[in-house]
Amino acid sequence: MSPRPQTTALLNGTLADGSGAALRPGNLLIADGRIAATGSFEVPPHAEKIDCTEFIVAPGFIDAHSHSDLQVISGRREKLLQGVTSEVVGNCGFSPYPQGTHAEELRDFANGIFCGDGQWGWATAASYFSALGGSRTVASVFSLVGHGSLRIAVAGNRMDALPQQDLARMEGLLAEAFAQGAIGLSTGLMYAPGSSAPTGELVRLCRVVADHGKIYTTHMRDYGFRLLEAIDEQIELARRSGCRLQISHLQAVGRANRDLNRRALERVEEAHVHGVDIAFDCYPYIAGSTVMTQLLPQWALEGGTSALLARLADLEERGRIEAGMITTLANEWSELLVSAVATPANAHLVGKTLEDIAALRRQRPADAVFDLLIEEQGRVNILEYNQSEENLRLNLNHPLAIIISDGFYVNGRPHPRLHGTFPELLGNLCRDRGWLDLATAIHKITGLPAQRFGLADRGLLQPGYVADVTIFDPRTIRSRATYEDPARSPVGIRYVFREGRILLRASPES
Ligand SMILES: [Zn+2]
Repeated sequence: MSPRPQTTALLNGTLADGSGAALRPGNLLIADGRIAATGSFEVPPHAEKIDCTEFIVAPGFIDAHSHSDLQVISGRREKLLQGVTSEVVGNCGFSPYPQGTHAEELRDFANGIFCGDGQWGWATAASYFSALGGSRTVASVFSLVGHGSLRIAVAGNRMDALPQQDLARMEGLLAEAFAQGAIGLSTGLMYAPGSSAPTGELVRLCRVVADHGKIYTTHMRDYGFRLLEAIDEQIELARRSGCRLQISHLQAVGRANRDLNRRALERVEEAHVHGVDIAFDCYPYIAGSTVMTQLLPQWALEGGTSALLARLADLEERGRIEAGMITTLANEWSELLVSAVATPANAHLVGKTLEDIAALRRQRPADAVFDLLIEEQGRVNILEYNQSEENLRLNLNHPLAIIISDGFYVNGRPHPRLHGTFPELLGNLCRDRGWLDLATAIHKITGLPAQRFGLADRGLLQPGYVADVTIFDPRTIRSRATYEDPARSPVGIRYVFREGRILLRASPES
């Protein structure tokens, strides 16, 4: 990184300004970390000139749903290589703060999503931001407060309705985090212990969100058989609290539930028409990924991983867990793949479906799941083939949809979205398959998320805005990350500027 912002003139490119307006030819001048001019202007003699002929000049991409809470601090570059300059972390109920007296429980809760190891954790949003400030991060990082983390800070890994004084402490900690710069609250209502929160608890917290003018994002209670009930709860919550609502990774999970997708969109549109400030996000893949304990009824995780392992070792408890798992599971076993394990002994299972693993072990799939969790001390990640291409296309194109990665790191084979989301969208889905036009797709990863998440002065190519700029070749941009080989970096991203500094300059052949 250069010591101070440069003056740079980007010449002869095609501007996609992030607003969704049609692409247009033009130049762009960066000075003092800001966009100084667009269109035509006199190029200052000391400016570095970059010829952008045949390239698209866009605002730096914003990944509004990231789980790189720890990796942004270590300066990982997977997102930068995709043209991302801003990341919103703290999603789905998981943030690395506030860490109260239950530090061990916070790590036990979030390690599977954060790919965490060691003694991470921050007492406050301010201490997390100051760690970021002194780090090698290559992104501008914005953070949501995770409801699961907040709940653990106050009450540990309890799974019941909390007493009044605990709720009041959660409200206080949330308001404190907002005052320190957190941009919203996220819930993860399929993950213990956040899943045990009654709607009343969420209403109280969403009122704090509304009072501070922040955003509330939610990984809802269900995306399968009870998708519509889950959406109704969230809309009701937004109505009662007055908060702005963002539904995370909206989709209908499972073949039996494909029709629910259209009805889910209707629910969202109806709320929107009736004045609820609602929108949603989606990643551009039909498969999702998460921790394997998501397959279990979440009461089985009360008390954390050690309590879960004890239950799985008890035949009677195991039967109850299986009964709970089977009633909510919307996927086939053949649609669920192991993507990461903790021990070398099971490393050969990475990339195999649970159907195959069960056959290999001569077990029923449920027993394979339970035994694998015991052998791996709970640390298994999975990939899930969830939805149809038709529904995915519908969702990505919806005017209320922004497009995100939802990527996270694993000690194994990550979902290709971690390395490929943005080039996949612009290359495969826009250019090759014609699902969206470029101006719209770029709007959904720049101007729209900036507006939605309140990222001031970002997301548009407009004089005075922060000079986050991504330049790519629309003829060659492409993700090379596949489900089988997900760590391959994309091609076609040519230059990336963050806050006026050049962070990526690709060689001509890449
Ligand atoms: Zn989520």
